[in-house]
Amino acid sequence: MASDRTIADAQHVRLRGGCHLWQQTAGGWGMSNAGLVAGRGASLLVDTLYDLRRTSRMLDGFAAVTARAPITTVVNTHGNGDHWFGNQLVEDTEIVASHASLADMRQVQPTDMTRLMAPDTPSGRFARRIFDGFDFTAIHPVLPSRTFERELSLDIGGTCVRLIDVGPAHTAGDTIVHVPDARTVYTGDIVFAGATPVVWHGPFDNWVAACDLILGLGAETIVPGHGPVTTRAAVRATRAYLEYVHEQASARHAVGMSPREAARDIPLGSFTGLAESERLAVNVHTVYRELDPDLALLDGPQLFGCMADLACPRISF
Ligand SMILES: [Zn+2]
Repeated sequence: MASDRTIADAQHVRLRGGCHLWQQTAGGWGMSNAGLVAGRGASLLVDTLYDLRRTSRMLDGFAAVTARAPITTVVNTHGNGDHWFGNQLVEDTEIVASHASLADMRQVQPTDMTRLMAPDTPSGRFARRIFDGFDFTAIHPVLPSRTFERELSLDIGGTCVRLIDVGPAHTAGDTIVHVPDARTVYTGDIVFAGATPVVWHGPFDNWVAACDLILGLGAETIVPGHGPVTTRAAVRATRAYLEYVHEQASARHAVGMSPREAARDIPLGSFTGLAESERLAVNVHTVYRELDPDLALLDGPQLFGCMADLACPRISF
């Protein structure tokens, strides 16, 4: 079963300065990373995972560290479920998110995923294909107990941890977690290593500015929201993709192409190797909304329908 294979693929990676990573090496839709910053006698967990089985295995994977530095604080980097649906397994700790992320979390609950995957439509079949390995049943959504705006500094057992909300970009609120002494940044989904960024919210400019902010922090270790631990080169690659797609989609908007036509027409060029290339359909739509505020906001099934449509030639449903 695919889910067992991908669950087994996850691993604990020790980084510098008390920083750790639970890396879901396979990456892909919903296969997010979690981080741990361990100080003296206390730890901060960066994100829980998409379902309870994965989150439980991640917590077990960190047990050797958390036995001497228990988790006292959890940060949810943003409102997508693959970064917080596992919260009920850490509900006794303080859970922190930006104010904008909390609002996002109230919008999409685990039952919405089941509903998205149910219908016998292109979007339903596509959602089933990409989320097949996750179990959204029995999840009791636990929301953050503390919110902040823009920036919050925490002392985790003597280690300074800075939370910075760089959104709206990927979603309405996007928190990065900076550990200055470890020269490490957990970027949440501001960076996808080896996969296509998906601009659910935008604006693109804000995401580009977020990349510049990360690059300006002087960190050497970049922990992406998805994919293996990486370097500043991945931040620059994300920035380049966003600028390229914005430019290409804008040019097609100017000559009257529909978002669907534009997504099919844009050559991926040097970005051809990125996984989940179908996210281009969402990204083009977001550019079009920036250029035309009257364009209707698409709901979940419509967004997944766009991607199913673009992925169609390569995926048999
Ligand atoms: Zn994610």
